[in-house]
Amino acid sequence: MTSLDDLPIRDDLRGMSPYGAPQAHVRVELNVNENTHPVPQAVVDDILERVQGALTSINRYPDREFVSLRDALANYLGHGLTRENVWAANGSNEVIQHMLQAFGGPGRSVLAFPPTYSMHKIIAAGSGTTWLTAERGPDFAITPEIAVAAIELQSPDMVFLCTPNNPTGTSVSNETIAAAYAATTGMVFVDEAYAEFSPQGSETALDLLAGRPRLVVSRTMSKAFAFAGARVGYLAADPAVIDALRLVRLPYHLSALTQAAAEGALAHASEMLAMVDDIKIQRDLLVSELATLGYTPYPSDANFVLFGNVANPQRVFDELLAQGIIIRDVGIPHHLRVTAGTERETTEFLTALAALNGAKNANGTQT
Ligand SMILES: *Cc1c(COP(=O)(O)O)cnc(C)c1O
Repeated sequence: MTSLDDLPIRDDLRGMSPYGAPQAHVRVELNVNENTHPVPQAVVDDILERVQGALTSINRYPDREFVSLRDALANYLGHGLTRENVWAANGSNEVIQHMLQAFGGPGRSVLAFPPTYSMHKIIAAGSGTTWLTAERGPDFAITPEIAVAAIELQSPDMVFLCTPNNPTGTSVSNETIAAAYAATTGMVFVDEAYAEFSPQGSETALDLLAGRPRLVVSRTMSKAFAFAGARVGYLAADPAVIDALRLVRLPYHLSALTQAAAEGALAHASEMLAMVDDIKIQRDLLVSELATLGYTPYPSDANFVLFGNVANPQRVFDELLAQGIIIRDVGIPHHLRVTAGTERETTEFLTALAALNGAKNANGTQT
């Protein structure tokens, strides 16, 4: 049988593994930080109508500039942004790829602060960008001093900051982002995929965009917006950055169906986001209950919780999966990550975990 190694593949891709979050379809799926609440039927109906409208002209290429979607995204973001500041693609993963194609690539580097979103490294590798890393401080924090010292030491062409950070839930302050920006002549990319789950009134890097043309803030409709299957991510930046991204995107990269569906979802933003408050309640419950069970959960501004003090993560993962509950082993020793789901899902997870714990205490074996 032919294996990958038999092919004339790029040397820098040899030995790499693809993104591999298990995609088991089970009763309680709390592994990839989706919004587990379904889209309300009235919104589904409106999106269907819009998609049907788009189908009547599907023989033609879609609007290459997706102007009306960019208007809707700018309107959603506020902050005085207009369509000239906004870019979108098939998931923020593609937005990140566009950024790396335009500002990274062979001979260039990106600095990140692991543990962070695993796709950042994978997309960097795909674009041939060198991946540099720096350590976080206690509790996964990135202080201005940590960011500036790492940038001065490594002189990266791009800096990636993720806030709230996946998989830790830790936020990065605007003070740190501004300090990182001032310390580099490269691009600073802030991944705010989970921004809507932050406490009411939290700062966002959108507040820093004015006067900082090398700063980019990305968002996604995959998480809070309950729209992961549609594949829509976007960013806000100086119009010159958008011009740079036009050089690397494929023409017509956003299908007419995607544009129509996303505009429909944005037209119902308040209904789509109605469940965010419930999810935040479940997240906070996870933090307090996991602590009660003897684990060490980290405070989270996102829709998931990372928890440590897990003696055997593989065993906990397997035993939960056997009961139809999937969570995530993100590769940090003695840690697991769980998404905040509906009240029923979150309770089911906590009850199952408590039962595993009880079994452990009863027979003295480690969980
Ligand atoms: C889930 C996630 C994304 C979303 O990716 P999409 O391609 O928009 O689905 C982006 N960044 C981070 C940090 C994430 O956790």
